[in-house]
Amino acid sequence: MTHCILIGAPVDEGQRRPGCLMGPAAYRVAGLASTLIDLGHTVEDRGDLSPAPGRGQACANPAVHHLPEIIAWTEALRASGCSAMEEGMPIFLGGDHALALGSLAGVAAHARAAGRPQFVLWLDAHSDFHTVETTTSGNLHGTPLAYASGRAGFDPFPAFPAPIPGRNICMFGIRSVDSAESAALRETEIIVNDMRVLDERGIVAPLREFLDRVQAENGMLHVSLDVDFLDPSIAPAVGTTVPGGTTFREAHLVCELLHESGLMTSLDLVELNPFLDERGRTAKLMVDLVGSLMGRKVFDRPTHSY
Ligand code: MG
Ligand code: MG
Repeated sequence: MTHCILIGAPVDEGQRRPGCLMGPAAYRVAGLASTLIDLGHTVEDRGDLSPAPGRGQACANPAVHHLPEIIAWTEALRASGCSAMEEGMPIFLGGDHALALGSLAGVAAHARAAGRPQFVLWLDAHSDFHTVETTTSGNLHGTPLAYASGRAGFDPFPAFPAPIPGRNICMFGIRSVDSAESAALRETEIIVNDMRVLDERGIVAPLREFLDRVQAENGMLHVSLDVDFLDPSIAPAVGTTVPGGTTFREAHLVCELLHESGLMTSLDLVELNPFLDERGRTAKLMVDLVGSLMGRKVFDRPTHSY
């Protein structure tokens, strides 16, 4: 039994397609809390965070937009994430992926205080490894992993509290990385399992290798699930669809393996844009995946009518 702490983070400023701010409400409507309770967990919904107003910070890259607002979100999420870790397992309801700047900062600060290494499993079509300096889109939802790994180029963000070594970060589902990100990633020890790796090796072996290391090192494991990890044919409600994503079966398998490992200590659900959804189908799929992450087995899954 896990004490699940829901933290709504209606972040919409990390990209340019409005709608992710409706994500937390969509997860609640899709039955996230009752799914967790039915699996025997306790749920504490802390509502939606509202960050302090932006303080007008600026940076040298003219492409970057909404910098003060995202810094304010980062500070608010770091504080609430770090304190939630003391009491249970935070589930951050996004909101776009810029929320992970703060959720990762919070959980990493907690892990450092607890004297345990932090690991990150990044389930995403994108590597999100830009910095404030290198982003050409100016969309800060493409930066959280670079921030968490301690990359330079994040002025005027607060310093990341406990940078996560590249070897503790594992990506799955990657199929859209630009050349600057790719060059930067090659300088790190980050484990990049792109779709080619999954096609050649399957998803189980590389995931088990990573989870074995988390276990061996007594690590904390943050899982960041971007809707675009999934194929757009099953998860259309995202502003950054990339063809060739994970199938329904692969996604549930990943979640069931994670549950069996017992290693996940915090979770982001990001990039859901309910305005682009088809009758709540993507929101329901994401809630179903959380069910698999938290102990539901395939043969227990109720039949949905969509
Ligand atoms: Mg992402
Ligand atoms: Mg993505």
